[in-house]
Amino acid sequence: MKKFDFHIHTCCSQHWLWGVDGLSTPREVVETAISRGLNGIAVSDHNTTKGGLLAAKIAKKIDKNFLVIPSIEVKSRSGDVLAIGVLEELTIRSRSLTAAEAVEQMRDKNAVIVAPHPYGREGLGLIVEKLKFDALEGFNAHILPRYNTKAKKLAQKLKLPMVASSDAHIAEEIANGITGLDMDEISIDGVKEAIRKGKTKILQEKHTKSMGRIYSKKIGILFHAAKRPPCGEI
Ligand SMILES: [Zn+2]
Repeated sequence: MKKFDFHIHTCCSQHWLWGVDGLSTPREVVETAISRGLNGIAVSDHNTTKGGLLAAKIAKKIDKNFLVIPSIEVKSRSGDVLAIGVLEELTIRSRSLTAAEAVEQMRDKNAVIVAPHPYGREGLGLIVEKLKFDALEGFNAHILPRYNTKAKKLAQKLKLPMVASSDAHIAEEIANGITGLDMDEISIDGVKEAIRKGKTKILQEKHTKSMGRIYSKKIGILFHAAKRPPCGEI
């Protein structure tokens, strides 16, 4: 079984209020993910594929066997829509799309459409039942355990494959959620097919400490972001 973390942010990730939403560079993200023994990751910055495309380029130089899937977490008017495998440079204005529009536009790009943290902050809640998703986050390391329990029940009700993700905004959080995929050869198309066919298994569920810790780190991101080149390759 191959191991993936399908929801990771870099310093390219955009925050509607703070500007920057993640601390680690694409290179730090790739190096950490490789050191944690993952076979691949989806870099899913908010509203841009820039971090994912940079990370994919870096990974090719560091380790040809490690797969980076450029992805995007679209902040729609009703909550987040995670699109795994968007291979073009794309930037979307925060909250400019409805959830239905985000799903439709990302499906046109042949992405795997995932409902991230449906019951956490910025989750889509009941909208998940109304739109067509390929999978649902049965575990997101950034939200409270009871919301993950609810998400798993919803996935079972809707008969949707489940993925587990770290939602890392700092490299050290990577692999706190790990999805296993039943596949041999690793490729972006292979990953998409495996998720769509439900060949997924939750392998790791490690909550990212307390919400207080997450928010104190977010404040740290603000300070550090000012000192670093935005979305650089360093
Ligand atoms: Zn996220």
